[in-house]
Amino acid sequence: KRLVLIGPPGSGKGTQSPVIKDEYCLCHLATGDMLRSAVAAKTPLGIKAKEAMDKAMKKPSCEKGFILDGFPRTVVQAEKLDEMLEKQGTKIDKVLNFAIDDSILEERITGRWIHPASGRSYHTKFAPPKVHGFDDVTGEPLIQRKDDTAQVLKSRLEAFHKQTEPVIDYYAKKGVLAQLHAEKPPKEVTVEVQKVLS
Ligand code: ADP
Ligand code: ADP
Repeated sequence: KRLVLIGPPGSGKGTQSPVIKDEYCLCHLATGDMLRSAVAAKTPLGIKAKEAMDKAMKKPSCEKGFILDGFPRTVVQAEKLDEMLEKQGTKIDKVLNFAIDDSILEERITGRWIHPASGRSYHTKFAPPKVHGFDDVTGEPLIQRKDDTAQVLKSRLEAFHKQTEPVIDYYAKKGVLAQLHAEKPPKEVTVEVQKVLS
């Protein structure tokens, strides 16, 4: 399966990805994570992100398919992606839209804690780690993203509504869009995801 996850910051894409990834043995490609590691490595952003994306899509382990999380986020990117897949004789099978009201997102984003190496995310209230501030699996420290503040969220949401919402219509017209009720508890969203993909 070749999947795209679309939703505003905090809608639960990163939380549902591992479930989908494990169940269907797909690669999880998160452009946000790739861009953050590009910054850490001081590589020019555009180059690094494109390299990572190209490489990942050609990896043998991605032959079963992939989950794109954070890409495409503009209609131009969606068109480019379609062109690229068409050349490979494939296409996007399904796009999951994490539909959610903006008002819920501030609490989700400001309470988010991340294990940078794995991308696992926790929440102080909704998904607390076993030991406060530390990853359940590795025991390593968790961090908060610098842009996970109420103020920066506002501009990320503006960009989402302006640039990424049109991508939802783009895929709806292609007949591959599935809607999720992303405001529900994580387990209920997982059940919806499984129904859509079964
Ligand atoms: P995204 O990848 O879409 O930005 P995340 O999956 O990182 O979003 O979720 C944002 C925050 O909200 C995280 O702290 C996560 O633990 C929490 N979260 C994710 N899904 C839910 C949910 N369905 N209900 C409540 N909290 C959630
Ligand atoms: P967000 O939680 O804001 O949706 P991500 O974790 O997906 O963010 O990505 C972090 C930041 O990296 C985004 O706010 C955006 O500035 C940038 N970014 C991620 N993916 C893309 C992309 N496909 N095109 C342009 N910028 C991107």
